[in-house]
Amino acid sequence: MDADNKLYELMNVNRNATDAEIKKSYRKLAMKYHPDKNPNPDEAEKFKEITYAYEILSDPDKRKTYDRYGVKGLQEGGADTNDMFSHIFGSFFGGGGGGRSSGPQQCEPIVMQELVTLEDLYVGGREIPRKITRIIGCTKCNGQGGKNVKKCKECRGTGTKIIIHQMGFMTQQIASKCNDCAGTGEFIDKKDRCDLCKGSKTIEDKKEVTIHIDKGMKHAQKIVFRGEGHHLPDTVQGDVIVVLKERDHETFKREGNDLILQQTISITQALCGFDLLIKHLDGRDLHVKNPPGNVMKNGDIKCVTHEGMPLYKNPFEKGNLFINFTVEFPEKMDVDLIPQLEKCLPPRPAFVMPTGEHVEEVSMSDYDPNDQSRRKKHSAAYNSDSEDEEGGHPGGVQCRAS
Ligand SMILES: [Zn+2]
Ligand SMILES: [Zn+2]
Repeated sequence: MDADNKLYELMNVNRNATDAEIKKSYRKLAMKYHPDKNPNPDEAEKFKEITYAYEILSDPDKRKTYDRYGVKGLQEGGADTNDMFSHIFGSFFGGGGGGRSSGPQQCEPIVMQELVTLEDLYVGGREIPRKITRIIGCTKCNGQGGKNVKKCKECRGTGTKIIIHQMGFMTQQIASKCNDCAGTGEFIDKKDRCDLCKGSKTIEDKKEVTIHIDKGMKHAQKIVFRGEGHHLPDTVQGDVIVVLKERDHETFKREGNDLILQQTISITQALCGFDLLIKHLDGRDLHVKNPPGNVMKNGDIKCVTHEGMPLYKNPFEKGNLFINFTVEFPEKMDVDLIPQLEKCLPPRPAFVMPTGEHVEEVSMSDYDPNDQSRRKKHSAAYNSDSEDEEGGHPGGVQCRAS
């Protein structure tokens, strides 16, 4: 099989040319074919080929790959990360291949967020109309932009301009989008431009989609409207993607398919039993009861099965409802009533004051774990070995001054 020799031929050098020879030849050719010095469009294309060839042959790894496998090896190896040059390359040497998927590209999707309530997601069935603005091919000129479409003179129809920077011994090529044609490579005389799209080929189009909220849908769930988005000429129509955002609920917190409810009860309810009504997301009142004789402790969690969220696409199945109880104690007790209360409660353990001098009476103050300023101050004092006996709590527990 004949070795691929195209790039060496383009560069006017033989296969075992040194780096310096390649560079020298490239400079000479670049001067000759540079678009700024050369009005002939064919020669401008030649300049791109040369530049591509130089890209490969001046890079030892790429050159090695090319020597062994030819142009195909460069395309398949994926080593060539310079998209622009591999693209130019593809169009010049028979195109296709090169990992570039065939067929037109799909337009970027239109992504938007929809705020929904937990009630919406529990009950289901809500329909939310949303207006979208999308870009589509001009309906008047069929996405042509007008009549008599010509090649842009500035970039010779390529849509890009390559600028050469000479910095000492270094040559740098910078590819930039042609400003005259905004990278399209095309030019239409003013009189021939489509008056609807002003030659831009595209127009804005208003469209309405309806978002259906189903039971059990979740936060961050995506609802996709296939092909309802942008549709630029020569592309596949894009999608509209709606991302659900679940609004925080004032009563319930959702965890997967379960619902969590924080419920505060009084100490009387905790000790003597209670009846409670919980307003559910569909408006029903759930009657929960704790019969007298059952004591509810602070932090107890109770479960009501099958009263959580319905499952998406399987709404007859439901998660559970968890009730997290907090028992509220009174701030103060009426001292006169304490003997009476004490009769109802289990006896307290006996207290015997030991005799001797090793008993020291100390006072307690409220502890606030969030009081960071005080905590920092104390630990700093502790770490610096200061002998502050009043404030040093070796256990790390800090008290708040009351
Ligand atoms: Zn038009
Ligand atoms: Zn142009």
